[in-house]
Amino acid sequence: MKLPLAQAYCTGTSPQLDTHTLLAHHPPPPPPPPPPPNSAGVHDILVVSENLDDADLVLALPPVQCGVRLHKALGLHPEHACLKTLPMMLALIRTHHAQLTCIGEIGLDYSPHVLGMEDPEATKQIQQECMRQQVELALELGLAVNVHSRSAGHHALALLKETAAAAAAAAAARSGGDEENKGSVRAVLHAWDGKAHYAEAAALDPEHEIYFSVPPCATRSPLMAKWIARVPLERLLLETDSPALAAVKGEVNVPKHLKVSVEVLAASKGVEVEDVREATRRNAERLFGLGVGAGMERRRKEEWNK
Ligand SMILES: [Zn+2]
Repeated sequence: MKLPLAQAYCTGTSPQLDTHTLLAHHPPPPPPPPPPPNSAGVHDILVVSENLDDADLVLALPPVQCGVRLHKALGLHPEHACLKTLPMMLALIRTHHAQLTCIGEIGLDYSPHVLGMEDPEATKQIQQECMRQQVELALELGLAVNVHSRSAGHHALALLKETAAAAAAAAAARSGGDEENKGSVRAVLHAWDGKAHYAEAAALDPEHEIYFSVPPCATRSPLMAKWIARVPLERLLLETDSPALAAVKGEVNVPKHLKVSVEVLAASKGVEVEDVREATRRNAERLFGLGVGAGMERRRKEEWNK
């Protein structure tokens, strides 16, 4: 499937930010067309990786294409979890962290077809170890994480919090208690398929910054409608997960369909679409520290040192 990256851009009124795409799979169009009028309003696209091959494609993307800023994320997806590959991905993230917006996608996928029949428990443990080590690196580098969870939502949330608490305890032990580390994590759970009460509790947890991103397929998902209704707008983001998760099952998804996610949120919260666009953009900028390229902690430190 070939999808020219430029076709994926949209045209709108106020800037929107697609926080989860897999567009590195699709080569940019040769030659690049003139920048289209951005009338659908997607000004920023975050492109995540799933494995080492994807990571190279993500790193090769230009910072701006067709008038749209491309943000990069590297990570090992749970479907590719492998303890031999993991150190290579961690090294790649370390080398390129200054140009990353977050680490992802990482996570847990306990779908039967992913776990397989042979030894599902062993597969789960490998996924958990891969996620844990990538979260530890994100905490060390001050980056947020972009999390995939399928049939494992509350397990992924628990692992995020446990890893942050363990990192804080280790830092306290090293520093003799001098180092201030509250053990909090910054994350977005993308296309969440877990129970609404877990999402609501995580979003409201003041110890962490945990967001949930809404894909266009939410229009046809009663399960998603439940958690979207319970998670406050201040903890929601927009995503397409393009080329997957379109509003129409089986259709190729592109970032211009972000407007469907906007409309789902506006209807659920009883607010104007413009309010959704503004709120979700602010949320994404806060989570990722956009504008500085390497995460909220760096921006906070820079502002503190002014
Ligand atoms: Zn995913």
